[in-house]
Order: sequence, then structure tokens, then C-alpha cells
Amino acid sequence: MKSGYEAVIGLEVHVQLRTRSKMFCACRNSTGAPPNSHTCPVCLGLPGALPTLNAEAVRMALSLGLALGATIQPQSAFYRKQYFYPDLPKGYQITQGPVAIVEGGHMDIPGEARVRGLEGPVRIRVERAHLEEDAGKSHHDLDGTASHVDLNRAGVPLLEIVGAPDLRSAQEASDYLKALHRLVVGLGICDGNMEEGSFRCDANVSVRTLGVEAFGTRVEVKNLNSFRFVRQALDHELERQVALLEGGAAVPMETRGWDAALGETRGQRTKEAAMDYRYFPEPDLPLLVVDPTEIEAARAALPELPDQRIRRWREAFQLGQEEAQTLAQSPAFAAYFERVASLSGSGRGAAAWMLGEVCRTLNDRGIGIEALPLAPEDLAGLVRLVEARTLSFGTAKDQLFPAMLAGEGGAEELMKTRGLAQVSDRAAIEGLVAQILEANPGPVAQIQSGKESLKGFLVGQILKAGQGRLDAKLVNEVLAEALAKG
Ligand code: ADP
Ligand code: MG
Ligand code: ZN
Repeated sequence: MKSGYEAVIGLEVHVQLRTRSKMFCACRNSTGAPPNSHTCPVCLGLPGALPTLNAEAVRMALSLGLALGATIQPQSAFYRKQYFYPDLPKGYQITQGPVAIVEGGHMDIPGEARVRGLEGPVRIRVERAHLEEDAGKSHHDLDGTASHVDLNRAGVPLLEIVGAPDLRSAQEASDYLKALHRLVVGLGICDGNMEEGSFRCDANVSVRTLGVEAFGTRVEVKNLNSFRFVRQALDHELERQVALLEGGAAVPMETRGWDAALGETRGQRTKEAAMDYRYFPEPDLPLLVVDPTEIEAARAALPELPDQRIRRWREAFQLGQEEAQTLAQSPAFAAYFERVASLSGSGRGAAAWMLGEVCRTLNDRGIGIEALPLAPEDLAGLVRLVEARTLSFGTAKDQLFPAMLAGEGGAEELMKTRGLAQVSDRAAIEGLVAQILEANPGPVAQIQSGKESLKGFLVGQILKAGQGRLDAKLVNEVLAEALAKG
């Protein structure tokens, strides 16, 4: 962004809760069912049907609130937010009023030195998180003649997390969103599927002259269903606003949508046309009262949080932030890694395999870690052999790992029956090194006259002669000695 300006961004995130049933009725909360098959008088909005609050959704809200270090309000109320839309059969959405079940809290994110002027974590405050229900889904393009409404999603529980305007760049917004995503997935309260809309984000964006305290006029950007879109859309929107200000114009307050195909935000509606939702307290639901014992139970049930885990792994295994974040991507992936790390006795070795071959396999096959046909015990066996230098990394990766995936046996057994053990026998390696040096007098002479880069060529030749089973470290050592002797 042009210097002299500062970005101010606050995110509103909608988290679809993974409860068994919907927010106010017993219908199943699930995706993929035939349209309108999970509906009942309550979520269809039939007259006289009465809502009942889902206790599981409340527990999930408590869990998030405690993880954010927020205040749990002992009492909060539900309100009706009224508007008309075909996917909202009641004519209103049940949401929370001026007091939310979760108030305050924060997330710590790395913070961007470029905009902060200093390195280190920054604290992004959360204003509140409230419970509400989702609307149904409209499909306007199914058959080209009519719009269709599917109410399976109507009444699915949502937690809306309203962030303070504390973010100072598109990158920070994306980092905050990723941390929040990790958290809700790690807490087991959301499946985190952004493409399907289980985790949705609207961004409020403004710019101000550097040094000025007052906020500029904000624009709300909708439809940001990937982390990449968040970065692209916000960078684009910030540039657009600065250009307006530079041209002497004001930024109009409006809602804009991100058009991924065009790579720009487009105006949707101005705030002057903003609706009056005529909020009023929901008369069919009692106050939401949270008992101190419920709060304590939720606190006791909290798992280790993803960001705590990331910090612990970084220290114990000397991992980078990005590496540790990838390992913490889901509770199942994290648990798998943790098993391999402890069974193999090498956190770094386990991390390298998880981030390399395991991730590649999952991506290639389009599966999650649960479906990997390799137990952590078996991968740990492979890691142990490589770390002990009994097996070369290349052989492990190209031969044993695929064989183990195909169910052909365990690491140790395969290594023995196929004769793949690494050659760490110094005398054998010295013999091979001598052979290769003799066969390559030209490169040897060049190396001795200073062309160090040719060493790699010789190492390659030696490893090849050893059919990829030589201990590469030892090869380098022996080669250096042989060259020094001349
Ligand atoms: P509304 O009720 O219209 O949604 P809120 O006051 O609840 O407005 O704010 C919604 C979001 O907008 C919050 O996430 C907040 O951080 C953000 N926000 C408020 N003012 C600004 C601003 N000037 N620039 C950027 N974001 C802002
Ligand atoms: Mg809002
Ligand atoms: Zn229902």
C-alpha cells in the first residue's frame, strides 16, 4: 500500500457448528442430504412451532469463548432480526441481542513487521461471539427456469465471531483468519470447510492517514471463501480506497463483493439503503443462562489449543512457524504426527516425513490422514531406520515408503528381505570412492585447482555406483579425505 496510509481491518467470521442437531429443533445438522429432507415445522417456520435451544451449541460457544480468553456472560438473550428472503421461511433470523454469550477475548498472531515497525506477536481483540441460526440455501442456476430453495441448512447453528478493527494489513487478516480456523477445527466445533461455507468471512476495510487516530469510512467485503481470496480482495480493496482518497474523493460506505474471476471487488449495495431489521427480543425462548459449573466443565474439557501445540513443537523440535502450523492443521493430523515423533524418538525426522511424503500422498489421493493406509507405528519404524542411518533417505522414500503404503510389510522386514540396508561400512565406501576418482581424472584435477562445485558431480557418481544405498554423509567425508590426499 502507498506509504503515508494505514489499513484498518476487522473481520466478522461465521462458524457453522458441528452439532448433531440444529439450533432450535431436532433435525439433523448434516450436508449432502436430498434437498429439504432435514426439515420440520420449527425450521420451516410453520406457525405455532416452538424453538428449543440446543445445549451442545451452547457448550461449543463456551469452549470457543474460553479458548479466546473471553468473558462468558451468565445471561444473554435471543432476538429476532427481521428481513424477507426466500431462504428464510420464518421472516426473521434468531440471533443474539446487545449482550452475546461470549464477550471480549483475543487471538495472538505473528504480526507484520512491515506495517508494525517491529517484530513479534500482536494481539487482535475479539469484540464478541454470538449464537445464531443459519438460513437455507437458494439455488438460482439448477435448471435455468426457476430458483430452488433447500432448507436443510435453515436453523443450523452458527457462531459469529466479531473481531475488533485491529488488523493492519491483508496478510495479518489472513493470518488471524488462519489462526481462528485452526482454533475452531482444533476445538472440534467446526469442520472448517471454507468452500462449502462452514467457515465464512466478511471483512470490514478502511484506510486512514498514518498518524491520524480516527478511522476512515469502512467498506464491507463479502464472499471471501479462501485465505488467498482474503489476501487478494483486501489488498485490492485497500489500493482502491487509497486511490479514491489520493484523487480527492471520499470512500462511500458500502458493501462490495469479491469477484475472483475479475480479481476485483464490486459494489453491491450502499449503506444508505441499509435495512432496519426491527430487532426485538425472541418471545419464544427463555434467557440463555450459563451456570458457573457449566463454564468450569467446559474449561476442564478444553484440549491443548493448536497455537499452544505449535509453540511447544517449535521449541521441542526446532520447527519453523509454517511447518508447525501445517502439522497442527487438524486434530487427527497433529495426533498422528505426535505418535510418529514419540515412537521414532525424532520430532524433526517425523516432521520432515509428515510434511513431505505423507502430505504428498494425502494430496495425490485426495484423502485425509484417517484414510492413510499406514499406521503411525509403521511410519515411526521407517523414520527410526533413516535417523539411525541404517537406511538411506532416498531408498526409504523411493522404495520402502511406497511398498509400505501398498501393504507389503514393515520397514525393518522390507529392508532386510530386499537387501536395502544402507552401506555405512567405511572400507566399502573408500573402495568405491577410489574407483570413481580413478575413472574421473578430469573433474578431480579441476576440483584440485579450485573448482569446488564439481564435488557434487563426484558424490552423485559414487552414490549411483552404490545403488543409492550409501550413507551420503560418510561418502562426503571419505571423498573429502581422498581429495585432500591428492
Ligand atoms: P455492524 O453492526 O454494522 O456490523 P460493527 O460495529 O458491529 O458494525 O462492526 C462490524 C465489524 O466492522 C467489526 O469486525 C469491526 O472490527 C469492523 N469495523 C468497525 N469499524 C471499522 C473501520 N472503520 N474500519 C474497518 N473495520 C471496522
Ligand atoms: Mg455486524
Ligand atoms: Zn427442524
